[in-house]
Amino acid sequence: MQLKHFMPVRVLMGPDIIRQQAPLLAPLGTTALIVTGRSSARASGALADIIAALDSQGIRHILFDQVEANPRLATVRQAAQLARQEKAGFVVGIGGGSPLDAAKAVALLAVNDLDDSAIFTGPWPGGALKLVAVPTTAGTGSEVTQYAILTNDALQTKTSIAWDGLFPAIAFLDSRYTHSCPLNTTINTALDALSHAVEGFLSNKSDPWSRSEALEAIRLLGKNLQTLARLPAGELPGPDTRAELLFAANLAGVVISQTGSTMVHAMGYPLTYSHGVDHGRANALLLPDYLDFIARQHPGAVQTVLDAFGACQSPDLHGPASPALAFRQLLDRLLGPRERLSPEEITQFARTAIQARNIANTLVVPTLQDLQALYAASLG
Ligand code: NAP
Ligand code: FE
Repeated sequence: MQLKHFMPVRVLMGPDIIRQQAPLLAPLGTTALIVTGRSSARASGALADIIAALDSQGIRHILFDQVEANPRLATVRQAAQLARQEKAGFVVGIGGGSPLDAAKAVALLAVNDLDDSAIFTGPWPGGALKLVAVPTTAGTGSEVTQYAILTNDALQTKTSIAWDGLFPAIAFLDSRYTHSCPLNTTINTALDALSHAVEGFLSNKSDPWSRSEALEAIRLLGKNLQTLARLPAGELPGPDTRAELLFAANLAGVVISQTGSTMVHAMGYPLTYSHGVDHGRANALLLPDYLDFIARQHPGAVQTVLDAFGACQSPDLHGPASPALAFRQLLDRLLGPRERLSPEEITQFARTAIQARNIANTLVVPTLQDLQALYAASLG
């Protein structure tokens, strides 16, 4: 048996965890740059808790609160400039995956002069500032990964920076910060986490450790996505569902930190770049047909995923015959009407997706024709 597990993040989860663990911030530096989106860091209560914790340790802070969804290079360059001006010693990212990934890129650009392509490829000789990550969505798991995904206009897609220097030092998880997430964001981010766990389980980089983490994440996500699908109109999930979703998303993040993501993420990025489809939704639109594609060569592995997900066990979702159909039906119910692509878009998106590095992690490495067929099956 072979294991290669490296996860250097101190993960702390619980109500009020930031204020309780504030002394952990003291060794990180005397000035912090806080990086957030425009409103949710405030709305969730996370920003106030971080500022109180920094104040309690005598740490000065500066705030950059202009990160957009799917962060752009210009935005992270602006924040990195602020970090340099103010001599920030570390960066605190608060938000969904977009502000967390932006914070990672800022930590890199604050100590490296890099042109637009070198940001993605490295080397990054200056290292990176230390990072603290506070997720306010239960989805990306960015708080425990070494990836920062940025909009890449040169390639008309999204591209990831992947480097061990980007693992945060500390991740503070308090599921109360996700309570303000509207239902569609809650669903889309949970589907992103599901995609991480499923792709990680079916990655050719998986090992017994990451596969066991992936199956537990799939089980928890299956259970809680069924809860989300059954919510009466206008209702939001309760605190227990929120906490399980945050833990499951974190666990799925640990999985992809070991296995990388695969063809689903590679194919989702052009959908987000060109059609503005939310990241988790873009992945989930492709997931059922991707499972069919992998099952042609690895039926047992896909069956294990579907068994862990357990959609067939939900009595009020009209018990269809096969687990694959139950999975598809649950996702259809959560996603609603699908976006559609023209034949020209399918050709163009497949050409873009095949160039992504994570394609190579897929258990069955797809050809260009495979990608076109999968886009057509899911969105044609
Ligand atoms: P997001 O783009 O960070 O946020 C989407 C929206 O949700 C924003 O409008 C945001 O508002 C809002 N929001 C966030 N938390 C909220 C809260 N608690 N209450 C109310 N609204 C809230 O969404 P995401 O799905 O979490 O992140 C997606 C990004 O992560 C993509 O760029 C994707 O590529 C990346 N990603 C990274 C990794 C990784 O390993 N690094 C893995 C998967 C995905 P504000 O703008 O006000 O913040
Ligand atoms: Fe993702």
